[in-house]
Amino acid sequence: CGIVGYYGKDYAAKMVLDGLSQLEYRGYDSAGIALIEDSGHLIYAKEKGRLKNLEETMHVQNLEGHIGIGHTRWATHGAPSKVNAHPHLNEARTIAVVHNGIIENYMELKKELIGYGYKFVSDTDTEVIAHLIDFYEAGNLVNAVYNAAKRLKGAYALGIISSNQPDTLIAVRNESPLVIGVKGQEYMIASDIPALLKVTRDVYYMDNGEVAIIEKGKLRIQDYAGNLVQKTLTHIDWDI
Ligand code: GLU
Repeated sequence: CGIVGYYGKDYAAKMVLDGLSQLEYRGYDSAGIALIEDSGHLIYAKEKGRLKNLEETMHVQNLEGHIGIGHTRWATHGAPSKVNAHPHLNEARTIAVVHNGIIENYMELKKELIGYGYKFVSDTDTEVIAHLIDFYEAGNLVNAVYNAAKRLKGAYALGIISSNQPDTLIAVRNESPLVIGVKGQEYMIASDIPALLKVTRDVYYMDNGEVAIIEKGKLRIQDYAGNLVQKTLTHIDWDI
């Protein structure tokens, strides 16, 4: 129902949870977060219910890491539960994905991936995305995300991190809202503006079929063919 991501000098856990709390008006049944620790290791947590439950499980105050993604879920496929909460991961737990929307062809993709030996743990449509990126990864996360996104039918805004490329945050949009906030080398991705106002008022509105790649402190926005897209920065001058 709402996705948030942070890349920057501040602690990602704090920024992501703060962002998610600004999206509470959208409603949700569960919440989760994934971070790349400074060691390059990926950690995650998810809980049914309120954000407070998640904060208590994670002891957020103690978490390091400057890259993270978070999610508040409004279940469409699979009951509201801890295992169906996002982020969803590949089996090696190196890739984490948050998703807002619906993947219409997930059954077909799930069958294909099970055929290759992939094991699913949730009833969501979203989990196929994590396994699909894993399937295509082979050393290059950005290419894997492209290849996976080209297979997806339906509506999605995605936030993706991988410990195989610990200095990268990727966001993808097709038919679900997504904005990217920018302040110097600090970035925030979100389903809606209120989630990023603490960081910045300068935003890019993502269009369908666009991929935002934040890598080593720099942002580029590309289409699915890998061509750079020139976007205009919008300054938000209204108050909320
Ligand atoms: N379809 C996904 C699910 O049911 C995402 C729902 C959402 O946008 O919160 O897990």
